[in-house]
Amino acid sequence: MFLLLALIEGAICAQVCGTSLLSSPPPSPSPLSTVRRHSWPDTACRPTATYTIPIVFHVIYSGETDSLSYDRIMDQVHRLFEDYRRLPGGGGFTPKGVDMDIEFSLATRDPQGQPTTGVVYWRYDQPPLNWSSPGLCVQDEYAMKAATGWPRDKYLNIWVVPAICGFSGNCADCSGIAGYAYYPDIGPTVIYGSVVGAPFIGGSLSGRGGRTLVHELGHNLGLAHPFEGGCGTTDCTTSGDEVCDTPPTAQENFRVQRQNTCDNDSPDLPDDPRNYMDYVDDASMSHFTSGQKSRAESFLLYPPSSLWPLYQPSNLQLTGAGPYGHVKAAFWSESQRVLPGTPVRFHAVAAGQPHLYEWDFGGGIADDPHSPCPRVRFPSPGAYTVRLIVENLSGRKDTFVRQNFIQVDDSIWHLPLREGWEGALFPPSGFSIENLDAGQGGSRTWERWGSTTPPRGGYGLSAYSVRLPFFSYSRYGERDYLLSPALDFEVDSSYDIQLRFALSYACLDWGSDYSYPLEYTDTLRVWLSPDGGGQWELIYEKGGRALSTRPEGCPQYRGSLSRAVHFPDSTSWRTDTVSLQRYRGIRGARIRFEGVCGWGNLLYLDDIIIDTVRRVNTHQPSYLSGSFQLGEEENHPVIQLTHAQHLTWVLYDVMGRRVLQEEKAFPPGKHTLSLPPLGMGMYFLRVSSAAGETLTLRLLRIQ
Ligand SMILES: [Zn+2]
Repeated sequence: MFLLLALIEGAICAQVCGTSLLSSPPPSPSPLSTVRRHSWPDTACRPTATYTIPIVFHVIYSGETDSLSYDRIMDQVHRLFEDYRRLPGGGGFTPKGVDMDIEFSLATRDPQGQPTTGVVYWRYDQPPLNWSSPGLCVQDEYAMKAATGWPRDKYLNIWVVPAICGFSGNCADCSGIAGYAYYPDIGPTVIYGSVVGAPFIGGSLSGRGGRTLVHELGHNLGLAHPFEGGCGTTDCTTSGDEVCDTPPTAQENFRVQRQNTCDNDSPDLPDDPRNYMDYVDDASMSHFTSGQKSRAESFLLYPPSSLWPLYQPSNLQLTGAGPYGHVKAAFWSESQRVLPGTPVRFHAVAAGQPHLYEWDFGGGIADDPHSPCPRVRFPSPGAYTVRLIVENLSGRKDTFVRQNFIQVDDSIWHLPLREGWEGALFPPSGFSIENLDAGQGGSRTWERWGSTTPPRGGYGLSAYSVRLPFFSYSRYGERDYLLSPALDFEVDSSYDIQLRFALSYACLDWGSDYSYPLEYTDTLRVWLSPDGGGQWELIYEKGGRALSTRPEGCPQYRGSLSRAVHFPDSTSWRTDTVSLQRYRGIRGARIRFEGVCGWGNLLYLDDIIIDTVRRVNTHQPSYLSGSFQLGEEENHPVIQLTHAQHLTWVLYDVMGRRVLQEEKAFPPGKHTLSLPPLGMGMYFLRVSSAAGETLTLRLLRIQ
């Protein structure tokens, strides 16, 4: 992987990884389908990693210029933490990719059990090295590692050298290689570990990115380059990098671009140059995949591998790693913009396996202030700063603060909500934009777009619309949110509530002489939060041809594409409607539009309307009004019938899951519907008569 991309007389001079030159990726010790997968929803509480691996840095240097400070090493360790844990809000976060569930922990005990910084400095020209020049000649690596390395069954050794030389066969040639590493199938032998050039160690993505080591440690975990073996065969389990969700790529990628250099994968997906195991620059790298996680885990769980002894709890104690070592705090939340009283779930993410979590929510009230993932209610409008202090068994502590992290707003808008983006203020009052990977340089997000000549709004009838310029996004899989204000859905039961919006979109069918033809398809989702922004339910999802408003679906283009290929005209618009009937009765519902980039085309939205519509029912109208009523008395749902009826009732939880369904014939009069004991939360009881009349009751259960 490279960090240096310098233009020299028109030629790209890049640093690459030498791993492929030294060994071929080993087969996974067990079929990936049988690997115990730690798969959990993004909302699961996962404060600490399952696998903690003690590391030690051996810095070989000649003087101040190529030596490394302890602070720079710690920056590098922090980069490993952010990237391997895919920390939301950190520089390691993109919506794509997975939490690898692995932590690299700087050792605090040396092989004799004495305290250590975890960084050992070795002069290149003094014993035990006695080199004649500062760079490592790769032919001398065994001698270097034998003389300096710590026990391979206790530590994962990382050697930082002034330069890596000799890959061309000539020890005087120190160009081209930024790092190299060995796969874990070799067991705890002398050469196992990573070697990185000193210029590539760091943590700041604007400077030395530190992702050479993220990449090399990927090799130590068993991961290969996605371009290994080129396109390979159609069997992704045995060819290429032997991981099926990393699309094969015909060659290494030095820059990010829309391309599909192999068409033998199924489904056929575009290349994924931002994978940590490819070669784009540090700031552009962004993720590991879930298939890579499974492959790494297959080696972690394989006793003969080099990794097996390292993460065992007894070894963490011996090496002063994990709970006996350094500790680092971070957190994120599922929502940052809520109403007073909305429960917000916080997630601590920590290195060093802390056992103590101390939160300060600046006036917010937590259900358990010592939980790593508390639920918190913020009582009144304002901006709340959140602080987390963690402590582990070593007595070390770390504090993490996010200023004005939670925004609480008590304004609830009455229906109808109509937004046509014609006002100059963007986002308009009440709306907001969340750009999930802004911290990763993902500057693209929702934008207002328009002109009067020709009109750019819906159906050519207005000047402005909003759009997601997916054609120009460089981040495949990037997500961007557009949020509505909180809305009052307490409306008369003779009305339903509807969301309508106009859209214009075309997916992109593109190929060129270097890129196989492929349909590049983007996705639009709409979510609704019944509690003002705490929890979200998916209410609409369309992508690709289903989303397209052009009769040909995905217009076909071949050859070079210099500009976007879809702009709306008055005929390319469609209006989609989503019923919000089941949310009637909620005060403080919020709508969220989510775009997911598939490197396709421009997506335009306009004329968003949320309004009541008088309900129409064609079933036996004489029964319709007042044949039964639904209410609540002393925490029990109550029905009142004017005549004998057969009723069906279904109870949903706030996630829209069906909790129970029952039916029964009732005589006229008032009856209580008995429900089983319900946990804390919000539920919706939907009662239907045989005539087709339906009423919904919202139930709130507070412990
Ligand atoms: Zn590599």
